[in-house]
Amino acid sequence: MKVYFLGTGTSQGIPVIGSHHSVCLSEDPKDKRLRVSVWIQSDDFSVVIDCGPDFRQQMLKCKCSRIDALLFTHEHADHTAGLDDIRPFYFAQGDIPIYAHQRVLKNLERRFDYIFEKENKYPGAPSVSPIEVKQNEIFKVRNESIEPINASHGNLQVFGYKIRNFVYLTDVKSMEDSEIEKIKGVEVLVINALRYEPHNTHFNIEEALDFISLVQPKKAYLTHISHLMGFHEEVQKKLPKNVYLAYDNLEIEIK
Ligand SMILES: [Zn+2]
Repeated sequence: MKVYFLGTGTSQGIPVIGSHHSVCLSEDPKDKRLRVSVWIQSDDFSVVIDCGPDFRQQMLKCKCSRIDALLFTHEHADHTAGLDDIRPFYFAQGDIPIYAHQRVLKNLERRFDYIFEKENKYPGAPSVSPIEVKQNEIFKVRNESIEPINASHGNLQVFGYKIRNFVYLTDVKSMEDSEIEKIKGVEVLVINALRYEPHNTHFNIEEALDFISLVQPKKAYLTHISHLMGFHEEVQKKLPKNVYLAYDNLEIEIK
C-alpha cells in the first residue's frame, strides 16, 4: 500500500497569496504546500482523504485515475471546497462514495446542493453516494477495513482514519485516551503540526511531538503546516529521530 501526500499545508496553503514572508518566497519545492490531503492506494484500492480547493491540481499531479471512496475528516473549506472537481471521476465511474460524519454530510449537502439533487439535476453535475461514518464502527472500502479515530479540533469533532498499519490525523487539538489506545504502536502516524506558537484549535509542534511520544509509532510525519513553521530543511534538522516533516508529493510505502 502506498501513501501519497497530495498537500501538507494549512488552510491558506504556502505561499500565502500576497505574502512576502521568507518561507512564502522560498524556491525550495518542499516549502510549497497545497491544502492538506492524502491518496492511499494499492493494486485494487484507491482512497483520497479530504477534497480541498487544490484537489484538481493534486489529482493531475499524482495521476490518480480512479477513486473508490473519498473520506472526509471534517467540513472546513480547506478540506472540502474542491468537491465539484470529482466530475471526471463521476463521468468515468458513476456516483462517488463519500464517507463522513453525519454532520459533515449535512454540511456538504447544504453547500453543494446541486451535487446531492435527485430530481431535475443539471446534466454536468456530479453525484455522490453519501455514507455516514460513526465512532467505533469499522467500515470497508473494497477489501480494506477502515477504522475511524475520533478527535477534537477545538470544539469541533473530527475523524482521522486507520488503514492497516497507517493512521492519518489532521486538525487535531485533543484526543480521548480510548482513541489513543486504538492507534498505539502503529507503523506510520501522520499528525498535524501547525507552527511553533500555540494555536486554539491545532497542535503546535510541541503538542504534536508529545502526542507522538504517547502513540509511539515507528515513524511519524507532520502535516497541515503553516509558513510560520519555517523552512522545511531547517525544521527537519531539529526533529527527533523517526519524525519527519511531510511535504507535497512525498510517497511512502506501508506494509
Ligand atoms: Zn484544516
